[in-house]
Amino acid sequence: MSKEPTGECFCNKDFTTEDLKRIIRDVRYNTFYRDAKNRKQHISLMHKDHQLFHASNDIPSSDQNNFDRLTEILNTSFEKRGITKCSHKIHYLANMYVETQYFSKLEEDGNNHRYMPYKGRGFIHITWDTNYIAYSDVPGHENIFGGTNYKKVTSSLELAADTGSWFWETNKVNEFAKKDDIFGTSKTINAPKATKTHQVNGYKMRRAAWIKFKEAFNNYPYNCVTDASKNPREYGEGVLEEMRKWADEHVQYTMESSTPLRTKFDKAALEKLDCSEFVCRYLHKLGITDTVKHVSTGDMVTQESFRTALGSNNIDHIDNSEKSDFMPQRGDIFVWRKIGSGHTGIVHSIDGDNITILESIGMNGSSDENYNNENEGYEGYNCTRTSVYQKNGGALASHAGWKGYFRPKNYAKQL
Ligand SMILES: [Zn+2]
Repeated sequence: MSKEPTGECFCNKDFTTEDLKRIIRDVRYNTFYRDAKNRKQHISLMHKDHQLFHASNDIPSSDQNNFDRLTEILNTSFEKRGITKCSHKIHYLANMYVETQYFSKLEEDGNNHRYMPYKGRGFIHITWDTNYIAYSDVPGHENIFGGTNYKKVTSSLELAADTGSWFWETNKVNEFAKKDDIFGTSKTINAPKATKTHQVNGYKMRRAAWIKFKEAFNNYPYNCVTDASKNPREYGEGVLEEMRKWADEHVQYTMESSTPLRTKFDKAALEKLDCSEFVCRYLHKLGITDTVKHVSTGDMVTQESFRTALGSNNIDHIDNSEKSDFMPQRGDIFVWRKIGSGHTGIVHSIDGDNITILESIGMNGSSDENYNNENEGYEGYNCTRTSVYQKNGGALASHAGWKGYFRPKNYAKQL
């Protein structure tokens, strides 16, 4: 292996089978498709966590569902073609995720393409006779052009990987990857002349996968030995800053009903958080409660019910805070609740109409997502995050079931 620096990230370092399993499981759980009834579902429901290339009938069955083989083959092909940094690998895998239908297939669907029989095959889907010829012309390469030789790309995982990494290197896709430019890597692979994102097939999913691969790579770039300084994050003192740091770790969102999972401090309890658990842990850090309480948004609708659920009177519902002319303060807790659903989060800071919120948000994101994205709020969802919403926008005061703001009081800790 290379002598370049390594650390907690995947720069200059092979994946282990366990790494790759975890990464693929996380990304499949945190990306979504619409089912026949147009309901949003985890990709992991359709392509089960530990199934791999299960829709690829041409490869040996011993290569299906075999993470050891995939790990070995990916590591080898990455090392061979200079796909060695976190940024390179994240962009490769995000594009491969879409090209291979979430690691289930090695060839493009359909048989009516104008480039038949040289349709998309392999990890990055090399396409058109010109690419099949160019690959075959390299000394030492298998001949995948002529006759039915193209079938080799779908019957061998090594060739599926090697054609992919060859295409990547030949087209200098690393140049876009190292700038973390997902449009650049996506278009080079799918539509080199594209000037707009809608011209790239599957662009939204490439982008969604890119965000989630970054999270799965230990929150790239923050812990990356190559790129950590790209975008340094700094945190000040106090409980709100502690919560912001936690939010920025993008902890998995999952709604949990088990009290131990919502109130304890072991790994299992801390690896998944929903919105109200995140707020209850904030109230505990602040000292409003001695232990973490199991309170859900259904209890957070009035001052009385919230106080009862917490077992503390040190929280007020602010009078008139449900009105649109109300201005919240740092540390306030917002709540909306309607039949069957609710959401809550913490006000980190206020800048005019922009309210920075710390929250754990589910798979649908917020009702003010465009604003959040345009104002440097975190664009991934199904995790904890720092978001930026309009004070009276759809995520806050205009939301159905809006209850306004609650304010902790009489605590000794620095907010
Ligand atoms: Zn790295």
